[in-house]
Amino acid sequence: DPGGNVRVVVRVRAFLPREIERDAECLIHMDPVSQQTTLLVPNDTDPANARARARKVMEEKSFTFDNSFWSHDTEDEHYATQEDVYDSLGEEFLDHNFEGYHTCIFAYGQTGSGKSYTMMGTPGQPGLIPRTCEDLFERIAAAQDETPNISYNVRVSYFEVYNEHVRDLLVPVVPHQPPYYLKIRESPTEGPYVKDLTEVPVRSLHEILRYMRVGDNNRTTASTKMNDTSSRSHAVFTIMLKQIHHDLDTDETTERSSRIRLVDLAGSERAKSTEATGARLREGSNINKSLTTLGRVIAALADPKQQHPPSRSRAAGPSTVVPYRDSILTWLLKDSLGGNSKTAMIACIAPSDYEETLSTLRYADQAKRIRTRAVVNQVDSV
Ligand code: ADP
Ligand code: MG
Repeated sequence: DPGGNVRVVVRVRAFLPREIERDAECLIHMDPVSQQTTLLVPNDTDPANARARARKVMEEKSFTFDNSFWSHDTEDEHYATQEDVYDSLGEEFLDHNFEGYHTCIFAYGQTGSGKSYTMMGTPGQPGLIPRTCEDLFERIAAAQDETPNISYNVRVSYFEVYNEHVRDLLVPVVPHQPPYYLKIRESPTEGPYVKDLTEVPVRSLHEILRYMRVGDNNRTTASTKMNDTSSRSHAVFTIMLKQIHHDLDTDETTERSSRIRLVDLAGSERAKSTEATGARLREGSNINKSLTTLGRVIAALADPKQQHPPSRSRAAGPSTVVPYRDSILTWLLKDSLGGNSKTAMIACIAPSDYEETLSTLRYADQAKRIRTRAVVNQVDSV
């Protein structure tokens, strides 16, 4: 199915110590059969939701997603572990990569909702990125025994978009030196790309995980200096997989290339202009630019007119212009959002924040309507 919808899943995390301390109430209910997620109305005494309560009438809201991952309490029989998330999403997406499709999985949600936990995880509880790497090299090892006429080439890159600048995370941060930023270019065949981005060949799980950690450390190193960058930056981990198939009978060579994009977005609460004040305003509004543009791109793509362009249905009127180029992030993710890619969004939610959770669930609900057109990326040569 080349014209698939963006796959949208939601995951709710456990209480953090500070939430237990204030005796927070869990506002999320998930139905394991229908995969429905329901946001409940907080009780009157919950101080964390008092501001939202004062401003608006709260109602119970239900949404249906492709999966609703219940990671709130480990005691529950439906508790979704890191492995469960990989098994029901990551594994299938890696299947698509071996078939020759580009894929993208991005985590969306407010700061502290579990995006990095889901994408990167912890050493003891690895997330989607290390699990994808592990499965990738296991599959390659198995294939090298079974189908020796296919050879594999894996490359990796890791960058972040911070304040509308692109920074290479595989290049070490030099103390007392301003970081250097990379430019974006657009090629007619490959679409938008980061010029001069480090792309390293990797031959083993050990190697790729080492680069993953290097990049992650570079992201955190900068964050202590620049006031919590990691919640304000978008991190994009990309694996390029090339499969070269040599047909011994015909002596023909076929090359399949796929791109695996794994994205940890900045905290979605930054999209609200009311948050930014004073010195942070300029910085904040730039960060807003990528996230607010992402919201506009998703809205434009989810517009029914977009699914029936005027060439086919005049009555629908002109199709909406998708403002990809209005921000660095959306420009770079153009293909992943509305083009040649199979794409999934993981909406991460905190258990007891009515307002932010409602906004995330609405965002996710809209993303469900987006259709992409993935093709097998294959070239035949003699
Ligand atoms: P974000 O990246 O969205 O800001 P984090 O991934 O850093 O959020 O998560 C915030 C905190 O919650 C971290 O301490 C993380 O370890 C914890 N956490 C998030 N999701 C889970 C989960 N599913 N199970 C256990 N702990 C989690
Ligand atoms: Mg994070």
